[in-house]
Amino acid sequence: MKIKNVTVFGSGVLGAQIAFQTAYHGYRVTLFDIKEELLEQAKLKFEQFKQYYQQDLNAAPADLDAAVTRISFTTDLAGSVKDADLTIEAIPESIQIKKDFYKKLSPLAPAKTIFCTNSSTLLPSQFAAETGRPERFLALHFANYLWKNNVAEIMGHDGTDHEIFDQVVQFAKTIGMLTIPIYKEQPGYVMNSLLVPWLIAGLDLYRNGVADAASIDKTWMKTVGADLGPMAMADLVGMTTAYNVTKSYAELTGEEVWEKRRDFLKENFIDKNKLGISTGEGFYTYPNPAYQNADFLK
Ligand code: NAD
Repeated sequence: MKIKNVTVFGSGVLGAQIAFQTAYHGYRVTLFDIKEELLEQAKLKFEQFKQYYQQDLNAAPADLDAAVTRISFTTDLAGSVKDADLTIEAIPESIQIKKDFYKKLSPLAPAKTIFCTNSSTLLPSQFAAETGRPERFLALHFANYLWKNNVAEIMGHDGTDHEIFDQVVQFAKTIGMLTIPIYKEQPGYVMNSLLVPWLIAGLDLYRNGVADAASIDKTWMKTVGADLGPMAMADLVGMTTAYNVTKSYAELTGEEVWEKRRDFLKENFIDKNKLGISTGEGFYTYPNPAYQNADFLK
C-alpha cells in the first residue's frame, strides 16, 4: 500500500512537529485535537517552525508555505481518519487516556489504516488490544525538535506484522528520519536506554559530592569529543523531566536510591524553580552557559 494520507492525533509539542515534518515531505496530513483553540495554536507553531526550518535546514520559503497547505485541521475524530493510510498518535502519556482513545478510534478507521504511537515510556503491547488491529500497530517514536534531531525509533510488539513494521521504517525514511528499527520491546527504546543511565550517572557523581557539575561535563566533553556533558544535557532536557523520570522509577522499583535521586532533584532544583534552560538556571545559568565558553576545556 502506498502511504499518502497521514493523520496525526494531538497537536501538542510533538504532534505539531510530526504534522509539519510529514507535510513538508509531501504527504497530505490531517491534524486532530480535542479543541479548536489547540488547533489554532498549532497554526501559530507552524509559523515558528518555518523560521526554524529556514535557519536549521536552509529550507525554501515556498516549500514551507506548501507544507502548511497540505495540512487540514479537525476536531472530528471519524472525519480525521476516513481516508488515513497511516496515523501517528501523540496524545498525553497516560495509559488510560491512550486506551480510551484507541477504543474510540478502532471502529472509525478503515481496515487498511496503520496505527503508530509516539509514546515515550509506554510499550505498544500495553494497549495493542484496544487498537482492534494489533498486527497493524507499533511505535514510531520521534525526538523533540525532530527536523534537526531527526531520529525515528520504530518498535513493534510481538503481534506486529513484519511487513507493516518495514512499511513504517520506509515511511519514516521518506520524511527525512534516520531510522532505528528495534527488534523487541524495550522500555525507553534505544535512545533513552542510553541517555537515562548516562544522565543518572552524572547526577549521582554530583549528588554524592564526587565532582562539581563543570568537572563532570569537562571530563566527558574532552575525552569523548562531545559538545555537551550530562549536566548540561540535564538542563537541556529540563529538570522537570529528569525529576519525573526519577519519580516514576522510585514508584516502579521501590528502591531507596531512586527516592534519593528524586528528592535531591525536588529540593535542589524543582522547589527552587531551577528547571534548566527554560527558567534560565539549572546546573548552569543561561543564556551563555559556562560550557559554551571557548576556554571551558582549557
Ligand atoms: P502535549 O501535552 O504537548 O500534547 C498532547 C496533545 O494531545 C494536546 O494537544 C492535547 O490537547 C491532546 N489530547 C489530549 N487528550 C486527547 C485525546 N483524548 N485525544 C486526542 N488528543 C488529545 O504532549 P507531547 O509532549 O506532545 O507528548 C505527546 C506524546 O508524545 C506522548 O506520548 C509523549 O510521550 C510523546 N513524546 C513526547 C516528547 C517530548 O519531548 N515532548 C518526545 C517524544 C515523544
